[in-house]
Parts: sequence; C-alpha cells; structure tokens
Amino acid sequence: MRKKIVAGNWKMNMTFDNAEGLIEEIGNGMKEMNTEGKEVILCPPSLFTEMTVDLSQEYPFFVGVQNISEHEEGAYTGEISAQMVRSLEVNFAIIGHSERRMYFQEDDELIAKKVDIALKNELIPIFCCGEQLEARQNEKHFDIVRTQVEEGLFHLDKDEIIKVVIAYEPVWAIGTGETASPEQAQEMHAFIRKLISIKYNDEIAESVTILYGGSVKPNNAVEIFGKKDVDGGLIGGASLNSKDFLAIVEALNIDDNE
Ligand code: PEP
Repeated sequence: MRKKIVAGNWKMNMTFDNAEGLIEEIGNGMKEMNTEGKEVILCPPSLFTEMTVDLSQEYPFFVGVQNISEHEEGAYTGEISAQMVRSLEVNFAIIGHSERRMYFQEDDELIAKKVDIALKNELIPIFCCGEQLEARQNEKHFDIVRTQVEEGLFHLDKDEIIKVVIAYEPVWAIGTGETASPEQAQEMHAFIRKLISIKYNDEIAESVTILYGGSVKPNNAVEIFGKKDVDGGLIGGASLNSKDFLAIVEALNIDDNE
C-alpha cells in the first residue's frame, strides 16, 4: 500500500517562539488522534529545522526542509546543502515548489540536480509539479506536468523513483483559496501515475505516493483525499494553524480510496 502523507509547508512564516508553540500544539494534537498508517511531515523555515527535529523526538511527526542547494558544498553564501540537512536527521526535502520555480528561476534541469543530491544524501524528495492558470485555461496542463515530471524525475532508475514523493500543485490554486476540484485532482494524479507506469512499470506507478497541494482546508480535505490516486496533501496556509492542520491530518483516510 502507498504511504499516506500530510506535509505542512510553512514557507517564510513564524518566529522561533511561534514555531515552537505551533509544533507543540500539532504534536500534542497528534498524540490524541490515531495517526497509524499516516506520515505527518513538518517543513519549517530552515533556521528552525534543528529545533523541529529535537521536538520530533517527543511527537510522531517527521521533519522536512523547503529547499536544498544543488551543490554539494563550498562557496555558495546563504545556501544549505543536502548533507547539512541530513546531518540533522531530517528525512524529507521539498524540491521544485512553484514559488522556487517562479521567484528563484528554478528550471527543470536545476530541479533534477536537486532531486539527485537529495537522494544521494538519503533525503526523500517531495517533488512539486503543476501548471499555471494560463496553461490550464489553454488546456496545456497535461503537457506542462508531463514535461516537469519527465525532466525532473525520469532520469532516475527504478530503485530511486520509488523513493520519491510527488506533489501535484496547480499554481492557480496555491494560496489563492481556489482549489482544484476533487475530479481535476484525480484526473491529473491518474495521469502522473500513468506516465510512471509507461516509463517504469505498473507496480512502481502503484507504489509512488502522489500528494495534492493548493488551498487544502479542513472543509475540502475529505473529498480531495477520498480520490483514488490522491495519497494525501502538501499544505501551505492551513499548516500554520494547528486546529486546521490537525483536522486535515484527521481527514486523511488510510483505507483504500474510492
Ligand atoms: C503550498 O505552498 O505548497 C500550498 C499548497 O499552499 P496553500 O495550501 O496555501 O495553497
């Protein structure tokens, strides 16, 4: 069975004290619910990674970072390497988020390098893909996502691709309050799974976790997560509120989807 995941991407929000308080609220809430079969991942700003890892000893969540450098080490002021991240016993790295693609000019080639360096350092990439509004309106969304997935991931061999988590995040739904309908999400997730099946095989396609991201909230999570090929969510805004985030974790049903 595929891993079921809810990951929170805090982006560039919170102060140290706020972050610590939020982690404790989420951790305590998780202790009171049955999270068996679900993986919850918190991706705080990198400055708070060590504190989050320390707290993860007390609570049942994993820790991820929001970005890593494509370089191993060296004179890259301000950057954080995969090796540094792994040395803190972090398990996950978000790679290719649309905000990195848009504001930091990350292209598919660079993102492929980051995927490689993450895997080399035993970090699980949460590989993001998704189309802009214009591409959706022009019915180019499948082409865009196909290119992103092919260029970013399809150089991997079978042993590597099965480690990757994919997050489909239509850019027009991120932070806008606009969500893809459950049907639109399912359609794209099935498409991505089909691409993996054609490139690798059915068994691998069935084992890869594909998350949906884009304005997931407590009031739409059940319906979106209920779709056959949706294995959980990457949550931005709603991950900054413990009550909302916990309700979204609760909404993830680990039984087979419809
Ligand atoms: C995200 O940034 O990955 C995201 C999905 O954000 P939001 O939930 O706020 O749309």
